Amino acid sequence: MAQFAADLIKIPTINPPGQNYRECAEFIGSRLQEFGFAVEYFIPDGRPEHTADFPRVNVVGARSGKRERPALHLNGHFDVVPPGDGWTLDPFSGKIENGRIYGRGSADMKGGLATAIFAAEAIRREGIELGGHLQISGSVDEESGGFAGVGWLAENGVICSKNTDYVIIPEPFGTDRVCLGHRGVYWFKVTALGKIAHGSMPFLGENAIQGMGRLLESMRRDLLPALRQRKTLMPIVPTQARRPTLNINSITGGQDEAKGQTPCVADRCEAIFDRRFLLEESFEEVRDEIKELLAATEENEASLKFELEDLMMVPPVSAPRDCELVQALDRAAVKVSGQQLEKVASPGTYDHKHIHLRGGIDQCVAFGPGELELAHQPDEYCSIEDMVAYTKILALTILDLTKSNA
Ligand SMILES: [Zn+2]
Repeated sequence: MAQFAADLIKIPTINPPGQNYRECAEFIGSRLQEFGFAVEYFIPDGRPEHTADFPRVNVVGARSGKRERPALHLNGHFDVVPPGDGWTLDPFSGKIENGRIYGRGSADMKGGLATAIFAAEAIRREGIELGGHLQISGSVDEESGGFAGVGWLAENGVICSKNTDYVIIPEPFGTDRVCLGHRGVYWFKVTALGKIAHGSMPFLGENAIQGMGRLLESMRRDLLPALRQRKTLMPIVPTQARRPTLNINSITGGQDEAKGQTPCVADRCEAIFDRRFLLEESFEEVRDEIKELLAATEENEASLKFELEDLMMVPPVSAPRDCELVQALDRAAVKVSGQQLEKVASPGTYDHKHIHLRGGIDQCVAFGPGELELAHQPDEYCSIEDMVAYTKILALTILDLTKSNA
């Protein structure tokens, strides 16, 4: 299992731009086939990310049991973020040392994908026939939104409530925690429009950059304290993320520095914001709050105008805490480690959103080996001991969930 995970890491599936996807999908597919799965490849034709240079290829393996249902799907993304700086070893060596597998994607989440495949294989090697249906998929683009990966698979009926009851995503939350869901996201752009004038007579114009400055000040003074008053009941970790948050993602204003400068009052300034919202907040309330802030800020300035543009919205999602899936995971964890899993939720989104919103499946959780804090970091690694402990819990869960009720 460790060697297989290391071999996966050696295929640099860096996203962006989405390199070596076909090679990695086929590598996973051939192993699934070897382990008795019927394998299919899914190419998201029509998605803009799917290009001749960087084709998007998803792989799904299916193993039938005595019956079609219950059906459990294990999904892992095989794209990884760029390695970045600060590594003390080759990020794509897949080096195994001191009980750890090193490399970009070891924790997030090629280690998890390997454990899913080997949990299923452990059951087969014991000669146990499943009562229900099991699928394992490797998908693309999670790190850039997952629209050509799980989003496409869910939208096109490959993973949906018509054929699937439960989904486990082995993202690295550790072997003692299960992630029930995530907060919502609202990305929006604000454009401040002022009035151009000669830079030597700024009093004849209205500076849009200063206008944006006034908006940022209103956010700091009025909005952020209001957000700090709200708290979700979802068990989000780290706990600071149980409050709504607002990040200023980027800001650009005035003339393009690269093209040279002439003396002008800046008549345009744009900023992109990332507002994370709670299960207890509605998207309409979140957006209205921003609209009101923009209106209040432009009120005192005769020629300043703000425009608001929605860039992306993902609602919060959460699996029910006491659903069959979570209960089965707890039973398995108790058998392996003696303890139930800690229930957590994520500050940011992952492919769970597609499973829920496009696939209509409520019982989806993230549960996988590796430390979340190591994801996207230099010298990322996954502990083999954790992978083995996790594989035991997952194998027992597969048996439990796919056992027939009839
Ligand atoms: Zn991930």
